[in-house]
Parts: sequence; structure tokens; C-alpha cells
Amino acid sequence: MSVLILAEHDGLALKPATRRVVGAAGFWQQPVELLVIGPAVVANEAACLAGVQRVLHVDSDAMPVAEDLAPLLVDLMHERKVLLAAHSSLARDVLPRVAALLDVAMIGDVVRITGPASYVCPLYAGRLLASMTSRDAIQVLTVRAPLFAPVGESQAVPVFALPALASGGASRRVAVNRQVSERPQLASARIVVSGGRALGEKFDAVLAPLAETLGAAVGATRAAVDAGFAANELQVGQTGVVVAPAIYLAVGLSGAAQHLAGMSDSEVIVAINQDLEAPIFKVADYGLVGDLFEVVPAVTRAIQQLQERQA
Ligand SMILES: Cc1cc2nc3c(=O)[nH]c(=O)nc-3n(C[C@H](O)[C@H](O)[C@H](O)COP(=O)(O)OP(=O)(O)OC[C@H]3O[C@@H](n4cnc5c(N)ncnc54)[C@H](O)[C@@H]3O)c2cc1C
Repeated sequence: MSVLILAEHDGLALKPATRRVVGAAGFWQQPVELLVIGPAVVANEAACLAGVQRVLHVDSDAMPVAEDLAPLLVDLMHERKVLLAAHSSLARDVLPRVAALLDVAMIGDVVRITGPASYVCPLYAGRLLASMTSRDAIQVLTVRAPLFAPVGESQAVPVFALPALASGGASRRVAVNRQVSERPQLASARIVVSGGRALGEKFDAVLAPLAETLGAAVGATRAAVDAGFAANELQVGQTGVVVAPAIYLAVGLSGAAQHLAGMSDSEVIVAINQDLEAPIFKVADYGLVGDLFEVVPAVTRAIQQLQERQA
């Protein structure tokens, strides 16, 4: 039996979540293999992760679409028992197809592994936690990566080249728009400053100075994204990115269940909202009731002054 992990990267380096998925794979105490579809530099980085016995590498400029990737994973899983990936948009696209083709259950967003085939997963946008045991011979699952400890470095293990993937499914990738940002990646940031619909057109103008001052990533609610105030990839929540930072600053957002599903594992939650009854205050460790357009610039200035004094 071995555990196969679908590695994720940005074309240059592994995403931090992959190190955490390898950490989760340690539970099985079985050989761990990483599948890297991307440039050789990423495969070589993957080969140095502690706990990985072997890297399978498909040399490729871009991640294939799910329809082209699923058949490869299905082939590989005929000799393996566990297929694991971070609960990312890529895995949410590919792994259910793999599970369907293998005729096994897809187990999504695992927050705890309690046995070789037993898991805890949130249901109903995190309102319930379900303990489940799978009877399938092959386990296909995504894990909530921030909740698992990352692995470090080790001596490089062998990298095996696999043939290029065939394409020709109904979908094809038209373009890849890569955002270049100095800010930390949302999924792995230590501090996240997240904004809601209330920020309107001033989303960036109000939040960017605070995020830069704190060295934080910026997140958003679906309402802010749908209204065009924030970019799609910033969405935190049930249908967005799942985060678990040390500090989550929730600004002008109500705290809908679907948003909480993506951030309620944050260590400390700070909410700024003008409505004392907003649900976000029920999960917040610290709450500030006020108009965000006054509060956020004032807080930003206060932190900057503190930083200047300490410099
Ligand atoms: C299937 C499904 C999946 C979904 N997935 C997601 C998801 O992944 N992520 C997500 O976020 N949502 C998701 N949603 C949407 C979710 O239900 C909410 O509609 C959304 O999160 C609300 O966004 P919001 O908090 O920005 O807006 P609102 O609910 O409109 O809240 C705005 C808040 O701003 C406050 N406010 C207004 N003005 C100010 C001011 N000047 N100063 C301070 N506070 C102010 C208000 O008091 C209010 O609490 C999903 C919904 C469905 C049905």
C-alpha cells in the first residue's frame, strides 16, 4: 500500500499546502509518493520533502485540465490505496472525477484523520462535524491543509519521469492569468485581512494599507467578489479558499455560515463591523463596533506609529 499525493505549485515552487498534505500522509505510515505535473525545478524541490519516498514527474508547462489529469490518477491508483490532495480548487475539480471513475466515495475537506479509513469532515458549511469510516478499497480524499503540520527537508529521493498527458477532453485551458504579488499567499498566510461587501469600490484603498502594514494576505467574501470589488481568487469560504491563519481580521463582513466555513479555524479572529448583532461577533475573539471607513485607517495609522517607534 502507498499514499499518492497530488502536488500543487505555482510554476516555480511547491505551494506550502503540499508540505502539509505530506504531513497528513504520515498518518498511514506507508510509503508516500508525490505526483508533480510541472517543471523539473518543482519535481526536484518535491524530492527533498521529508517523508516522501518517490516523486512521479510529468514535465509540463501548465497544469492540465481535470478531464486530462483524471485518467492518469485513475491508472496510478490501481496499485495504490490512498489518493490525497489539499482541499484546493484544483483538487475539488479533479478528485471527484477520479473517485467516480474508480467507483469509490470522494471524501472532501478532512479536518482530522482518526483511523486508516476514518475521518472527520465538516458538513453544512461547518455547522456539523461528521465522523465517517470508508469501506472502499481505495481512499480518495482532500484535507484541510492548514490543520496539518508541514514536513521539512530531507535527502533527495528519486524522481521518475512519466509520459506527457494526452489532451482532447471537452475542456481546454485558454489562458493562465498569474497574479504577481509581494503579499503572502492567502491559503498559507499567518495574517489575513478579509473584507466584505461593505467596502464597496474602496475595497483595495481601505484594506491594502492595513494588509501591507501587517504583512498580511488579503481575503474577501463572495459578496465582495461577486460585486467585482475583489478578485475571484481572494474568496474565502465554503466555495473559496480555506484558511487557518494565526490572525484573521474580518472587516465589514457579516459572518455568513458559508464564509465561516473557510476561516473559523483561525487562531484569533478580530471583527470590525458597525452592526453589534452581526453574526461574525459570535465567533470573534475581539470585536470593534464602528464604521470601517473610520476605524480601519485609524487602526492602520496606529500600527504604523507603533512600528516606527519600535524601529
Ligand atoms: C452555496 C453558497 C456558497 C457560498 N460560498 C461562500 C463563500 O465561499 N464565501 C463567502 O464569503 N460567502 C459565500 N456565500 C455567500 C454568503 O452566504 C454571504 O452572502 C456572503 O458571505 C455575505 O458577504 P458579506 O458578509 O460581505 O456581505 P453582507 O452579508 O451584506 O455583510 C456586510 C456587512 O458589512 C457591515 N457593514 C456595512 N457597512 C459597514 C461599515 N461602514 N462599517 C462596518 N461594517 C459595515 C454590515 O453590518 C454587514 O454585517 C455562499 C452562498 C451560497 C448560497
